[in-house]
Amino acid sequence: MADSTWTQVGEGVYQRRYDPMDVSVGLVLGPRGATVIDTRNNPAEAQEIINDVAQQFAVPIAAVLNTHAHYDHTFGNQLFAHAGIPIYGHHLITRHFENFERPRLLRVQQDPASEPDKSWAEVALTPPSVPIAESTTVDLGDRELQLIPLGPGHTETDLAIFIPDAGIWFLGDIIEESGPPMFGSGSFPLGWPEVLRSLLKLIDPQHVLIPGHGQAVDRAFVSAQLARFDELAQTLRTAHAASIAVDEIQYSAQLLALWPHEFLREAAVDGYAQLSQHGASGV
Ligand SMILES: [Zn+2]
Repeated sequence: MADSTWTQVGEGVYQRRYDPMDVSVGLVLGPRGATVIDTRNNPAEAQEIINDVAQQFAVPIAAVLNTHAHYDHTFGNQLFAHAGIPIYGHHLITRHFENFERPRLLRVQQDPASEPDKSWAEVALTPPSVPIAESTTVDLGDRELQLIPLGPGHTETDLAIFIPDAGIWFLGDIIEESGPPMFGSGSFPLGWPEVLRSLLKLIDPQHVLIPGHGQAVDRAFVSAQLARFDELAQTLRTAHAASIAVDEIQYSAQLLALWPHEFLREAAVDGYAQLSQHGASGV
């Protein structure tokens, strides 16, 4: 469900939902211009962001943030890099690109028919120019952004972005509203609950949370999704301990109400790999 314009979600803070994939792009205004959060699927889509920012706000883009490494949030980076705009992102994005995005991008560029819905011919992988390894405050001039690298969850590259004066969080795909949270491409279903718990300690009930896909949610939404993640992690640990094969795992009606069976299978594959590697905690 794409927006035809920017939606104000707080003082000088905007969200725009773009198709394909209903991906959220954020925008934070400051005295030096706009800070843009996430860059969509390819350079042409990133150009659309640049045009839409110019049209609505008539300010330069001062900085770009990536919420995590996945293609729908980073494959437009190169346009901003070419313009000399700094790109902030989790310090492990470069490694994630090498392990996941680069092999997939090369395969699709060599054989576009393998994923015909992707328009990646022009994509040149561009990792953040400002890698973030610990909680960092970025001074925009008259307001601050807090960048908080999260533990392994949706990926090992998730970055929570908080705008304290507006009470707004951009959380990437650690939270999804328009569809269920996605596994695969380097997800950590067993670490995810701990990530949400660590975030809940920082999130106030009046804060507004912008998911990577979907409309703004609140703290209660995160708590409810945490309960499902806890149940999923317990299901996977129990099944793994009982040596139940991935395809034989039984899921509760509650889990199947949030995730289609094939999503849960992806979670099980990733979860089992981590349990085999790291023992019973899986992380
Ligand atoms: Zn996404």
